[in-house]
Amino acid sequence: MIETDIIIIGAGPTGLFAVFEAGLLKLKCHLIDGLPQPGGQLTELYPKKPIFDIPGYPSVGAAELVDNLMEQIKQFQPGFTLNEVAETIEKQEDGTFIVTTNKGTKHHGKAVAIAGGLGSFEPRKPELENLAYYEDKGVEYFVKKPEMFAGKKIVIAGGGDSALDWSIYLADIAAEVYLVHRRNEFRGALDSVEKVQALKDKGKIKLVTPAEIVELKGTTRLEAVVVDREGAREEVLCDYFIPLFGLTPKLGPIADWGLEIEKNAIKVNNALDYQTNIPGIYAIGDINTYPGKLKLILCGFHEATLMCQSVYNMLNPGKKYVLKYTTVSGINGFDGTRKEAEKAVVKSIE
Ligand SMILES: Cc1cc2nc3c(=O)[nH]c(=O)nc-3n(C[C@H](O)[C@H](O)[C@H](O)COP(=O)(O)OP(=O)(O)OC[C@H]3O[C@@H](n4cnc5c(N)ncnc54)[C@H](O)[C@@H]3O)c2cc1C
Repeated sequence: MIETDIIIIGAGPTGLFAVFEAGLLKLKCHLIDGLPQPGGQLTELYPKKPIFDIPGYPSVGAAELVDNLMEQIKQFQPGFTLNEVAETIEKQEDGTFIVTTNKGTKHHGKAVAIAGGLGSFEPRKPELENLAYYEDKGVEYFVKKPEMFAGKKIVIAGGGDSALDWSIYLADIAAEVYLVHRRNEFRGALDSVEKVQALKDKGKIKLVTPAEIVELKGTTRLEAVVVDREGAREEVLCDYFIPLFGLTPKLGPIADWGLEIEKNAIKVNNALDYQTNIPGIYAIGDINTYPGKLKLILCGFHEATLMCQSVYNMLNPGKKYVLKYTTVSGINGFDGTRKEAEKAVVKSIE
């Protein structure tokens, strides 16, 4: 049995930052993730993309942000159970919890924070004959290692941000990039649409609209796709076909834990502390919902912070907590009581 204070389900950016905030309050964390590595969507879906809306970073690569979060929490020595999916949560008579994974690993904690993001997410796949045969033989649903597309001919399909962003990114490294979309209009950010237009004008992206991929061809691996443009069919030779039609969020086992669910997300009390309908179980980051919810990394960080304060108060009833600035207390400064805070301030003035 793994013992900890807070069991965190999901090691995406929200779960990782929660370890830091918990550490400031001297609470130990153990993270569980179904993926083999931490980082959630950042590592799994867009490791090489720059993120522009993390305060203090004009631009930071997604993988770099995960590395930095790991570095930031190292000092609090969190435990990790990776490559295992949290399957059940059992509340004990004393109010603590046991979380068991699909491989039978048991975790015992005083509180549970579900930071499960999109749950176990799956790509939406186009309905094409033999699609499964070409998976990993030229058909890819994620761009995890952009370098594998260097010098290759690529056909991307889709009309949202992912299709636009990856077309722009790969236009620089691939030999040829086709972007195929069934409408003339794109759903993605205006800025990205304009960039795609500019790359089309420079001949770096071949835009094919309104059109759809209707057939995949190749013997041992993908060699070509057939594009249907308003009834006219054309064979396009290619090394890779990347359909980017979004992800289907699947809550997975989380849906069976007796939590209040709304539109594939867990309802929480956002006026207070992001607690769910089960006291002691919190939901933070992309996995939760409340009026005005924004699925942004920044918002997950905020929610993780308030969750940790709430757990501290729950575990220390009657103990007055004084908000501390890390600039004053440092990382291991004091235990959150007024007396300790005053000591830290005096010390820093001295
Ligand atoms: C292409 C793209 C670009 C983006 N760009 C930005 C951006 O510029 N700025 C921004 O703020 N946001 C951006 N986002 C959104 C951002 O990635 C999410 O808001 C963020 O990842 C949410 O973090 P999280 O930790 O809540 O969840 P996630 O990152 O989804 O991590 C959740 C983790 O929980 C795990 N998990 C789920 N269920 C279980 C279970 N039962 N057992 C064990 N593990 C489980 C999953 O495996 C996953 O690793 C972007 C998203 C995408 C797809």
